[in-house]
Amino acid sequence: MTSLDGGDLDLLNPVRTADPPGDAPFTSTGRLPSRPTVTGLLRDAHATYATLDDGTVADYIPSLAAADPGRFGISVCGVDGTSFSIGDAQDAFSIQSVSKAFTFALVCGAIGHTTVREAVGVNNTGLAFDSVMALELNGGSPRNPMVNAGALVMISLVPGDSAAAKWQFLQEGMSRFAGRRLLLDVEVYESEAATNHRNRALAALLRSYGHMSYDPLLTTDIYTRQCSLLVSARDLAVMGATLADGGVNPLTHERVVDPSVCRDTLAVMAASGLYQRSGDWLYEVGLPGKSGVSGGIVTVAPGKGGLAAYSPRLDAAGTSIRGQHAIRSLSRSLGLDLFASAPVAGPAASGTPSERTT
Ligand code: GLN
Repeated sequence: MTSLDGGDLDLLNPVRTADPPGDAPFTSTGRLPSRPTVTGLLRDAHATYATLDDGTVADYIPSLAAADPGRFGISVCGVDGTSFSIGDAQDAFSIQSVSKAFTFALVCGAIGHTTVREAVGVNNTGLAFDSVMALELNGGSPRNPMVNAGALVMISLVPGDSAAAKWQFLQEGMSRFAGRRLLLDVEVYESEAATNHRNRALAALLRSYGHMSYDPLLTTDIYTRQCSLLVSARDLAVMGATLADGGVNPLTHERVVDPSVCRDTLAVMAASGLYQRSGDWLYEVGLPGKSGVSGGIVTVAPGKGGLAAYSPRLDAAGTSIRGQHAIRSLSRSLGLDLFASAPVAGPAASGTPSERTT
């Protein structure tokens, strides 16, 4: 993954899948379907995409190479707290870059929409998540908080006068999103900390451009810890449902962030959550999403819930292949796609708009 500034070549070969099974309405209007329908659709998607064996497990972080490539779980959590899971949805894995969306939300909540935008930006780089070239091309600006450089700047902005205080802010905040205390995978943390030369270089480069206000090495260390928090697909669905629910965790009923912060977070996820393939993602899936190199993906249907998947085989941009296919299918069949609306007045309202108003 580390030399994939050229990963944007994948834009020429976006992932394509068959249309989802069934006669689902494929609109974002309304609520989640009934429990038996959701359960059946999850089962279908899991069975369909469990047969995909494309892609490879990330190995540039040595301990991630040990992941079982056959694991596959999907989970949905509605804003009313009802949850549905299939397959290996309780497997624990390190959250990796999925964390960036939640750190953005927590920091945005603490220091505000405008400050974050000025410090990091909200535009896609068009390049891989760990691109050094993107920084150089943009005068040292990370451009968005979903790539490594932007996530490092976000860490430097975390409230707290020590690395321990910053880490506590993040671990507690992430845990509130999940509705349970999230713990560090020490093995993954130590493995990445021993090999994260590229992230240390990004932090140093940001410092040289005057975009890193905190110590670059301490910042990289906190970022590495953040990426090593253990979650399951079910946790990610709950975390996504918290963003879908205006910032209130639907299981604990605790307010984690304000509704305006959720809105800002979803906008940034939509623009850059899948890095250089965010356009393909939005075109195919129609939902804000965030992926990570351990194989997790979270997507959010505002007002409806969170949909998450876990499967460690990745494409060249570092996103789970089975996860992408399953989420694309379920976005349609569950009626989550933000861009697919139903006519308000139903089929009887035909004719031109002017005829309908008379
Ligand atoms: N910790 C990983 C890194 O910095 C996260 C990357 C990812 O999930 N895309 O490389």
